[in-house]
Amino acid sequence: MDLMYKSTRDSNVSVKASQAILKGLCDDGGLFVPEKIPALGKSLKDLSEMDYKDVAYEVMKEFITDFSEEELKNCINNAYDEKFDTEEIAPLVEADGAFYLELFHGKTIAFKDMALSILPHLMITSARKNNIKNDIVILTATSGDTGKAALAGFADVKGTKIIVFYPKDGVSPVQKLQMVTQKGDNTFVVGVDGNFDDCQTGVKKMFADKELKDELAAKGYQFSSANSINIGRLVPQIVYYVYAYTRLLKNEMITDGQKINIVVPTGNFGNILAANYAKQMGLPVKKLICASNENKVLFDFFRTGTYDRNRQFILTSSPSMDILISSNLERMIYHISGDDAKATAEFMKELRESGRYTITDKMKAGLKDFCGYYASEEATAAKISSLFEDTGYVIDTHTAVAGSAYDQYVKDTADETTTVIASTASPFKFARSVMTAIDKEYDSKDDFELVDELSKIGNVAVPNAIEEIRNADVRHKTVCSVDGMKAEVQKFLS
Ligand SMILES: *Cc1c(COP(=O)(O)O)cnc(C)c1O
Repeated sequence: MDLMYKSTRDSNVSVKASQAILKGLCDDGGLFVPEKIPALGKSLKDLSEMDYKDVAYEVMKEFITDFSEEELKNCINNAYDEKFDTEEIAPLVEADGAFYLELFHGKTIAFKDMALSILPHLMITSARKNNIKNDIVILTATSGDTGKAALAGFADVKGTKIIVFYPKDGVSPVQKLQMVTQKGDNTFVVGVDGNFDDCQTGVKKMFADKELKDELAAKGYQFSSANSINIGRLVPQIVYYVYAYTRLLKNEMITDGQKINIVVPTGNFGNILAANYAKQMGLPVKKLICASNENKVLFDFFRTGTYDRNRQFILTSSPSMDILISSNLERMIYHISGDDAKATAEFMKELRESGRYTITDKMKAGLKDFCGYYASEEATAAKISSLFEDTGYVIDTHTAVAGSAYDQYVKDTADETTTVIASTASPFKFARSVMTAIDKEYDSKDDFELVDELSKIGNVAVPNAIEEIRNADVRHKTVCSVDGMKAEVQKFLS
């Protein structure tokens, strides 16, 4: 029996994994959720003997049940190969009493690679299984890291085109350079005169635009999404939490069944939801610590039960988390409402119309495994600097938000549980913020001088992803207004 996927907003929807992957978003605007969270099929001990790819297979096969073993293994083998600069794929590094799970060893040096290096393969396989003849057009809004990781994943993949919208002043210089230098005839990158939420709303609108859908179908195209709402991104993200646990077990840092805490620097709530799914599968996890930057909507939500996006949008040094509407939270709302699509649809309508909603006390009780913390810009910089001074280990700004949240959690609770911190980007991607956190004097240097300096003080080679953009040509110069996004899509596809 296949595991079916429901819509968070309509209980009548029920599709197989391949269809959920192809569509990305439900027609009713809801997100696809598995009808139940499957249990791990192998013991933690058995999993600890496996490598990353085999763990990936064991976890993913429970969710993507309509792929054959050969199909799924092909996807995994095509994703987690030499594109990663270490065979471990996601190494754990101990520093100052916590374990940093380095999720940035892929092609674009941010954790988005973990899912986006496999998504194109999952999508092409899904298209084949469902006899899709149209070309798939990936439409994506990015706060900086998704865009490049999706571009790298889909560039020159036959039968696909990819269009990426990014907030033109809301990403780091390296993130921007990475995107606008992207090669591949099927790629199109557009800067938007707005913030990430504007980009995301614009993209969601196009997905819901029936006329546009028909117009594209006539030309042999159909949309899909590479955003973290796609179940094909969420499932591969569950893998590394299971992997991290089993590495700790293998290295005798914990005993079998011992609980760990997981800290995740959070934006769209995808990565931490994956950690929660890992826990639901049976991974021994005590607390899921949700770390926000100064855009602390989630911190407030966990304290009060009210989600309220009506506030100033703050540009921070952790731009991939500068988000006021955490799309994947909708899945959590659905789960804690007791899989109530009607109630979830109602909350999302309130969010759309008034920018806020308040969950019931009963739903709030369903969030007991989570706790929220946030780091100010000062606290983020202080964490980078103190960890470097104490250990020589250099972390990026997003990871530092998580590190700071963890320090606050320990101070509040004195909890000594072994803890994994999701390290979501290489410090090289945010070299200016990282280096000036260590010493303000660095601010006078240019971006690539900072990269070289970082390599020296951190004693790590400059990643290939950075070397590549040093002298690359800018290929994408299009900029548009929020209202002009649809016209750009029509232009590119005509
Ligand atoms: C996307 C991103 C995040 C936020 O992850 P979500 O799944 O959106 O919560 C955190 N850090 C980095 C570096 C990212 O690229």
